[in-house]
Amino acid sequence: MLSKVAFIGTGGTIASLGKDQFDLLDYNAGNKRVDATSLIEHIGIQGKIAEIIPINFREIDSTALTNEDWAELAEVCSGLMDDPELAGIVIGHGTASLEETAWVLSLVLEAKKPVILTGSMRPLSGISTDAHANLAAAVRVASTPGLSGVLVVVNDEIHSPRSVTKTHTLRLGAFQSPWTGPIGYVDGPLVRMSRADKAPQPVFSYELLRELPRVDITYSHIGADGTAARAFAAAGARGIVSAGFGPGMGTPTETAILQDLIRAGLTVVQSSRTGSGSVVDSAQHKRLEIIAGGDIGPHKARILLALCLARGDNRDDIERLFLSL
Ligand code: ASP
Repeated sequence: MLSKVAFIGTGGTIASLGKDQFDLLDYNAGNKRVDATSLIEHIGIQGKIAEIIPINFREIDSTALTNEDWAELAEVCSGLMDDPELAGIVIGHGTASLEETAWVLSLVLEAKKPVILTGSMRPLSGISTDAHANLAAAVRVASTPGLSGVLVVVNDEIHSPRSVTKTHTLRLGAFQSPWTGPIGYVDGPLVRMSRADKAPQPVFSYELLRELPRVDITYSHIGADGTAARAFAAAGARGIVSAGFGPGMGTPTETAILQDLIRAGLTVVQSSRTGSGSVVDSAQHKRLEIIAGGDIGPHKARILLALCLARGDNRDDIERLFLSL
């Protein structure tokens, strides 16, 4: 008997229709996206690998998602988690922010079943689209017995939400976990996990997503003078994530301004603009009271810091969490 898998459609390129099959770049111009039900029909996957229960959630570009959307998505997933008949959940998502949604869900969901995010680099209607193959692989992983947790499945690879990132604007193999690699593979019907995911420890209540405080990211470069950090604080930011130079530092001027903001009560996490590697808790960070972000990249650190602040964690709690993750 086929297993049952829920498919939640949120939109994105995987659900997008261009003006013809050769429209591979500017398909967003027509703003045409199909819902989960039509996507399943279009791909013809119903009853082939699993029995799919489509859930029409959104038909938007993933750049338009909000904290409210995240809260609602987590609520829907959490409701499905208790359905004993369901093997797993697949979420069709735009690739622009897929890694952020995967990360946030990994922090707020008790995922007793696999929750698989997938998307495509080429539109559903395009030549050699990866929409079909990625959905099929995601459904296979979602129906694999014994799996649990939030995972990203793209290009026949299984990635951890912690490490996966979109590394190319256009190519099919854009999703990678730099320096660490995938945690599993999908080879035709075979799903192989090659190592365990280092799943995040903390599980926040998804209700916190409805009350996330403002947390912004500043980006370091030669000449960066901290104007952005000041402006974010003036706009009401309670936290700043600094996407600093390689080892994890800003320019001296930026650092001085971040210190002022820490004295004014903001929480600052030092991350790096390199895209991989850890920011270690150095003597300098300790002295400056800047929290070392470890290997959580800037946009994921922003989400984690906002959740911590929403929960009412103090600076030391937040530091402990970043260091222990
Ligand atoms: N614009 C798309 C999105 O919704 C990009 C994609 O899905 O590849 O994120």
